[in-house]
Amino acid sequence: MSLAGRLYKLQQLDLELQERQQELSDVENKLSDRKALLSAETKLASQKEQLEDARKKQKSSEWELDDLQEKIRQVDGKLYGGRTKDPKELVNLEKEVKGLKSQIRAKEDSLLGSMSQVEQIESDVRATVEESEHLKREWAERQETLGPRKGELEIELAGLKAERSRLVQQIDSEAFNIYERIRLARGQAVVKVERGRCLGCHIAVPTSQWQKVKTGDLTQCNNCSRILYLE
Ligand SMILES: [Zn+2]
Repeated sequence: MSLAGRLYKLQQLDLELQERQQELSDVENKLSDRKALLSAETKLASQKEQLEDARKKQKSSEWELDDLQEKIRQVDGKLYGGRTKDPKELVNLEKEVKGLKSQIRAKEDSLLGSMSQVEQIESDVRATVEESEHLKREWAERQETLGPRKGELEIELAGLKAERSRLVQQIDSEAFNIYERIRLARGQAVVKVERGRCLGCHIAVPTSQWQKVKTGDLTQCNNCSRILYLE
């Protein structure tokens, strides 16, 4: 194979290496990406705390309501038990019952509010549990499919690297340095010549250079400096 041919082959290997490397880092990112799962778990923890608070609030409303109802039973007992005859006291007891009833209504309203809040948070918790289960399954599936792919890519990359270093040994260091320099500057270092034109910049290759390109020696385009290769 001519020098230009070897450089062209080297470029193909480098492109393939780049692609595989990119795929490997994508695979590795996907394998280690737990952001969605962690954020679902954080959300769940905070919803559970909210739920506990809301349940406590509900419980204490229930107790307060029980207390009020107990009080009203006692006052009713005094009112209708027949032991209290004093009209003034009876009026006071009736007032007390009225006041307690209005407190009970307010407490019942607040209890209903607490209960519906608890229900709402319970349903949020269920949704987040489901979301987090789904993300866990997805995570496990990803490990199952991408784990082996990562192994394959590592083997492919090792093979490509070995092939590249064998090829580099067959290229003299000066030509290799030129190749590396152009690749760094222009991305594509070796370009084909078709219908007499450099495919890098589409300028016609002068006849004087044409002969050299044909021999397969290292020839750079006068216009874009890329290494010319004739298949
Ligand atoms: Zn050119």
